[in-house]
Amino acid sequence: MKTDLYINGEWREGSEGQRFDVFNPADETVLASVASAEIADADAALDAAEAAMADWAARTPRARAEVLRKAWELMTARLPEFARLITLENGKAHADAIGEATYAAEFFRWFSEEAVRADGLLTHAPSSGARIMVQHKPAGLAVLITPWNYPAAMGTRKIAPALAAGCAVIIKPASETPLTMLALMPLLEEAGVPAGLVNVLPSRRTGALVDHMLHDPRVRVVSFTGSTSVGVKLLHGAADQVLKPAMELGGNAPLIVFEDADVDVAVENAMIAKMRNLGEACTAANRFYIHEDIAEAFTTKFTAAMAALKMGNGLDKDVDVGPLVNADTRDKVAAFVDDAVAKGAEIRLGGVKPDGPGFFYPPTVLSNVPDNADCLQDEIFGPVAAIQTFTDQDAVIAQANDTQYGLVAYVFTENMKRGLKVCEQLEYGMVGLNRGLVSDPAAPFGGVKQSGLGREGGHEGMLEFMETQYISASW
Ligand code: NAP
Repeated sequence: MKTDLYINGEWREGSEGQRFDVFNPADETVLASVASAEIADADAALDAAEAAMADWAARTPRARAEVLRKAWELMTARLPEFARLITLENGKAHADAIGEATYAAEFFRWFSEEAVRADGLLTHAPSSGARIMVQHKPAGLAVLITPWNYPAAMGTRKIAPALAAGCAVIIKPASETPLTMLALMPLLEEAGVPAGLVNVLPSRRTGALVDHMLHDPRVRVVSFTGSTSVGVKLLHGAADQVLKPAMELGGNAPLIVFEDADVDVAVENAMIAKMRNLGEACTAANRFYIHEDIAEAFTTKFTAAMAALKMGNGLDKDVDVGPLVNADTRDKVAAFVDDAVAKGAEIRLGGVKPDGPGFFYPPTVLSNVPDNADCLQDEIFGPVAAIQTFTDQDAVIAQANDTQYGLVAYVFTENMKRGLKVCEQLEYGMVGLNRGLVSDPAAPFGGVKQSGLGREGGHEGMLEFMETQYISASW
């Protein structure tokens, strides 16, 4: 297991020798002691990244693409290894961990294909007749900051497009889950990533370390996935050097089931939207709005599906629901349930925090959740479904849009004309229409309002790491 800092292709202890523990959330034991980066380590990583980028950016797009393709091949061959490490440090069930490792690897394949398609433009200026030439160039050194809920995929979703674009990166993984990103580094070396191009700095001095890097004149991009509150701080920090920001922030996803939906399809997909990654996902369905005519049928079937899930250590392949990542997250979920129940919600399933060890919370279904329940205002980030009913289409759309977030919404109806119209009325960066899963490396992932800025994946993902240059020419 790799536990030191990864700078310039070398494993180094932190410059001040500090380390911190990483825990297994299934049994609360210490998994590893990891080196903690300090300012001097950030400077070393910046020097290495600057030196590596000059050569990397000058390589042909095809040469960069082939390294990324090799990374996809190597990671795909080692999915069980990565899945095991993801489960050990994050807790998620084996199937979720395999799903994440597969998704994470796919970003290398997708961006190996995008690397050779940074299309520009050549056209005539309508009035002057000059030629307008547009090309995309690597934006510069990128600082990447990732959360603990997808220790592999949130990193590769940034590393792959950055490398495809010709940028070097320094990645600061979440302190709960730094091991997966460190484990990826030998694989990238084997794929042909040169020393210094990708550097990993776990740290307990997070705020000061990242702020220092955002103020280094060599840095041009900050790409962050995490909470809106930290994203806002980073945007302030990025403003001083006018950095190019990409922000993938929090969500509060509504899931709307109309009376003309196929209830079985809605239940099956609501299970995915709620329980993938045991609800610890920015895309997790947070507010269920079910039409009154089918509410009981939906709730009964959904509750049965939730009751069939097995909770336990995620390493056990029969387990569907592992522990939450830490005690704070588990306690926050429990507090949401207690608050909703105190305000009048009915518990249809779960709702009782089990004794430890391990940060477990059972699949929970709440119906008749009142409007003033805290879990409707904020991300639950756990295996709890909060169900309300509705009768009026315009009113439910207004309710769904009544949040500062705008990441993803889910809509279920068999009437496609209605469904597409509702999709357009929803103020969300992504909508799942009769689907509980929107994440796809080939699609632009991202939110509006306080859910973020920019897009990851799709064609847009690489542009986050490129600048557009326009040349006005005559010949
Ligand atoms: P978080 O507390 O915001 O932490 C995310 C990352 O930011 C971690 O690496 C953390 O480092 C770092 N960080 C914390 N304070 C910082 C500061 N002052 N300056 C610079 N970096 C700082 O979020 P989380 O609890 O790990 O993740 C859950 C959140 O992520 C949820 O809100 C979820 O919706 C969001 N998320 C969004 C997406 C998306 O694509 N939109 C995807 C996944 C998750 P330390 O660990 O060292 O504190």
